[in-house]
Amino acid sequence: EKEKSLNFIEEIVENDLSSGKHKSILTRFPPEPNGYLHIGHAKSICLNFGLAESYGGKTNLRFDDTNPVTEDTEYVDSIKEDVKWLGFDWASEHYASDYFDTLYEYAEKLINLGLAYVDDSNSEELAAQKGTPTTPGTNSPFRDRSIEENLTLFREMREGKHEEGSKALRAKIDMASTNMLMRDPIIYRIKFAKHHRTGDKWCIYPMYDLAHGQSDSIEEITHSVCTLEFVAHRELYDWFIAKLEIFPSKQYEFARLNLGYTLMSKRKLRLLVEENHVNGWDDPRMPTISGLRRRGYTPKSIRDFCDRIGIAKRDNMIDASLLEFFIKDHLNKISSRVMAVTDPLKVTITNFPEGQTEDCEIDNNPEDENSGSRMVPFDREIFIEKSDFLEEAPKKYFRLKPGGVVRLKGAYIIQCDDIVKDENGEVIELKCSFIENSKSGQDTSGVKCKGVIHWVSQKNNVPLELRVYDRLFKEEDVAGYDGDFRDILNENSLEVLKAYGEPSLKDAKLDDKFQFIRKGYYVLDKDSTENQIIFNQTVGMRDSWKK
Ligand code: ATP
Ligand code: MG
Ligand code: MG
Repeated sequence: EKEKSLNFIEEIVENDLSSGKHKSILTRFPPEPNGYLHIGHAKSICLNFGLAESYGGKTNLRFDDTNPVTEDTEYVDSIKEDVKWLGFDWASEHYASDYFDTLYEYAEKLINLGLAYVDDSNSEELAAQKGTPTTPGTNSPFRDRSIEENLTLFREMREGKHEEGSKALRAKIDMASTNMLMRDPIIYRIKFAKHHRTGDKWCIYPMYDLAHGQSDSIEEITHSVCTLEFVAHRELYDWFIAKLEIFPSKQYEFARLNLGYTLMSKRKLRLLVEENHVNGWDDPRMPTISGLRRRGYTPKSIRDFCDRIGIAKRDNMIDASLLEFFIKDHLNKISSRVMAVTDPLKVTITNFPEGQTEDCEIDNNPEDENSGSRMVPFDREIFIEKSDFLEEAPKKYFRLKPGGVVRLKGAYIIQCDDIVKDENGEVIELKCSFIENSKSGQDTSGVKCKGVIHWVSQKNNVPLELRVYDRLFKEEDVAGYDGDFRDILNENSLEVLKAYGEPSLKDAKLDDKFQFIRKGYYVLDKDSTENQIIFNQTVGMRDSWKK
């Protein structure tokens, strides 16, 4: 087997291990619990957990829960479920909010080092002081407060003595830095909000840059991998660690996943849910892990996809059909082939005895010899697809035509003898005869027949609702669209069809994977009841997207 070449992060890890810089590695996946995970997060999960698996290290799951306003335990629970479902186990579970005491101490330490100050400027004043990328900023009038005064004010902030927005703690770095983030960034702000874990204990909360890097350091994360937007933050990340003299975690950045016709921002996905453009976070059209799961995607297909797209240093757009390729590839190997008819045309087998049923044994999956077989009842009246009959058929048409023959999958070859039409001239029934000794697997009839079509018994079937999905957006670059992303929603992203399925589908379970022969891959939906069996189309047989 050809060895896969290393990505740049694996190279860094190998160097750090062989140079002895680290004895073992510890990575982390650090979601903010403000929404459900999406396929972009899957890439980060596969990368972080994958590195640990490859190099005998460990991965922490850390909830980056420093913003009390947007976070919720519902999201924490869903994130854990999704990471597990993808097939990964974390070494330990942490919450940035567990470090609030330590982070507070770090803030006081910075004040004591003369490296942080309390600023009373309002948001306009703060913005004006920042300057622009091409002009230096200006120092705040509060920048030279004494250490004692800063400590007193910061403690008062903690005690709730100051209003929201009236004061903030800033790192004292360099208002002329070419890196705007180094221009005395705010590191603590006042927020009178109940936190999903710490309740009312705090009314000041650390900002991302202080919380994130220091959480890495507290856990002794060796390789802190994040997306490219954070390149500019690295200088600040290193600054805090150097000044606080704490464990030197290192940040590395890779290109985030962008997938065509797909939105990848929890905030925007949340709007789709709240405004009822979709039916919840796990709507099968959503690019969330839970949506993909409900749609019928397997963890393996998502992991294989992430593996294939690899780790890049520059942003790019991945073709959405690549994800479909991996799920089709997996489902082809594991799904049971079954029959369902969506647009029925009645066929009467005139030479088959009335009231009699014959079982046809059909292999569940020709790709898997251990998958067994099942019985499908065949009788005098069946349904085939309307599109599998053509009255005026071209020569190369191998399905049913007047006088022609076709094989019914797993059953007999039938011949079309007669057509029944309604008053409008539309074909409403075919009268056919089955050919003796032509049953699948024991065919001694000698009749040549090129086409095979699917069918179901007219009286022995289960009514189904099929939900067929198209892409959720009409534009490929959703994030780059310069209008409201809701204006480019595809209003035809869900199509509901009625179908008649073979009786075995009554016993379908949520995890079972099916190929509805010639139609696509389907999975039972959780909305199903005994009286209303609902299937989601995971992906069509060819390209599921309408062009
Ligand atoms: P969102 O905007 O969707 O909320 P985020 O980056 O704010 O994304 P976090 O919960 O902070 O979401 O993300 C957790 C981890 O997942 C981070 O390390 C982040 O870099 C990574 N991540 C998020 N989106 C993607 C993506 N599209 N591709 C790769 N990694 C991603
Ligand atoms: Mg984030
Ligand atoms: Mg976000």
